[in-house]
Amino acid sequence: MLPFARVTIIGLGLIGSSIARAVQATMPTVRLTGYDASPEVRERVRELGFTDDVTDTAGASVVDADLVIFCVPVGAMGAAAAEIADDLPADAIVSDVGSSKASVLAALAAALPDATIIPAHPVAGTENSGPDAGFATLFKDRWCIVTPPEGADPAAVQKVEAFWQRLGANVDTMDPKHHDLVLAVTSHLPHLIAYTIVGTASDMEGVTQGEVIKYSAGGFRDFTRIAASDPTMWRDVFLSNKDAVLEMLQRFSEDLTALQRAIRWGDGDTLFDLFTRTRAVRRSIIEQGQDDAAPDFGRHH
Ligand code: NAP
Repeated sequence: MLPFARVTIIGLGLIGSSIARAVQATMPTVRLTGYDASPEVRERVRELGFTDDVTDTAGASVVDADLVIFCVPVGAMGAAAAEIADDLPADAIVSDVGSSKASVLAALAAALPDATIIPAHPVAGTENSGPDAGFATLFKDRWCIVTPPEGADPAAVQKVEAFWQRLGANVDTMDPKHHDLVLAVTSHLPHLIAYTIVGTASDMEGVTQGEVIKYSAGGFRDFTRIAASDPTMWRDVFLSNKDAVLEMLQRFSEDLTALQRAIRWGDGDTLFDLFTRTRAVRRSIIEQGQDDAAPDFGRHH
């Protein structure tokens, strides 16, 4: 049996449109309604046709929904939820896909105090945004972390898990705060480092922009892919997961200082030991199917 019959997606960008396409592909009888704050996006989604309906107000999109998923930037979750407060059916389940969980849960609960809220975070994405960027297989064999609040209804949690499994994801459950700490180190900090390094290179005197681009294969290029990620989304992630990111950043700065010292004192053993350990991490990621072992990071030439 399908976990939901009428699904509403609010925010029809990369993630929202990928969910819609994946629902169409895996649960074709589900009635899909979409809403986005941007009239251009709504128009484009009508052309692309991956929902049954696109409404011009948020309220109208949820009136008969049994699942409502917010796919807007994390800083917009509270405002987007407030827009549906008067129209949300009492038995509907509310979820979201935000990249940070504790602050989003608080924002959704404040706007919808009586709703059943079961947040989730599909750990899958690309550096592109908008409704054209989505695709049906985005979540296939990727993890989706469901972060139910304390005391959540187990039947509602199970339905949200079943929904993501149908879309092809592997599902884990986690406490929202623990999720935020884990993602701070696996996703948020790497993005911060990429934004910093690409910013530093582009501000540098004595090395031209042309040289930076021409010789980018030396490692820089892989940072530029991450640093091309959506500015609104990532501004909101850092502001909403502030504590966990600052904690991880402190650890990172200490480790960077230790490496700086090793280089200064010619301590090759410290460098070699670290680089050997990090290579093993890469090997584990490939063994667990989380990346491609093909040379040059699996790029197609
Ligand atoms: P996106 O492509 O930029 O799409 C977001 C859409 O939401 C935009 O069309 C935006 O319209 C719209 N929107 C903004 N405020 C709204 C509101 N109050 N009501 C209705 N629509 C609103 O972003 P995305 O990459 O899909 O990210 C969406 C969410 O998924 C974020 O919370 C992000 O943290 C999470 N996530 C992203 C990734 C990833 O790799 N991208 C992965 C996992 C989870 P405007 O453009 O007009 O603002």
